[in-house]
Amino acid sequence: MSEQTLSLIKPDAVERNLIGKIIQIFEENNLIIEKMKKIHVDMDFAKTFYSVHSDKPFFNDLCSYISSGPLVAMVLKGDNAVQKNRDLMGATNPKDAKPGTIRNLYAISIDKNSVHGSDSIENAKIEIDLFFKD
Ligand code: UDP
Ligand code: MG
Repeated sequence: MSEQTLSLIKPDAVERNLIGKIIQIFEENNLIIEKMKKIHVDMDFAKTFYSVHSDKPFFNDLCSYISSGPLVAMVLKGDNAVQKNRDLMGATNPKDAKPGTIRNLYAISIDKNSVHGSDSIENAKIEIDLFFKD
């Protein structure tokens, strides 16, 4: 069934000119770029976006990092888009990411791991709204 998910190309990947290489992986796997924009979010927006992690020890560093430079936000559309994007991204820690996944290919570390992807259809709707409302 066709669904939508939010993808972010995080600041570490934007900084290293990897936007095209990452988008190519989505397109080659039949995900359609429905919407896309490059933005530099502020700390308040970061805290809202990552509020589910507010009790984690890495929360402040995570919010500082995601607001440290421009990122690319996208709505990806396609069959099973939420899970497909998660599979293409690979594990959160690049050391555990399977060969050929985006994080295996491009991530620097568990915190600078190049991409975000919604983890459920429900959260995809919330995250898409946050980035693309209006
Ligand atoms: N993160 C981190 N340290 C950790 C775990 C996570 O810096 O020990 C960061 C990392 O950038 C990750 C984000 O927090 O992508 C959100 O964590 P989550 O567990 O939701 O991982 P994801 O869904 O991105 O794979
Ligand atoms: Mg997550």
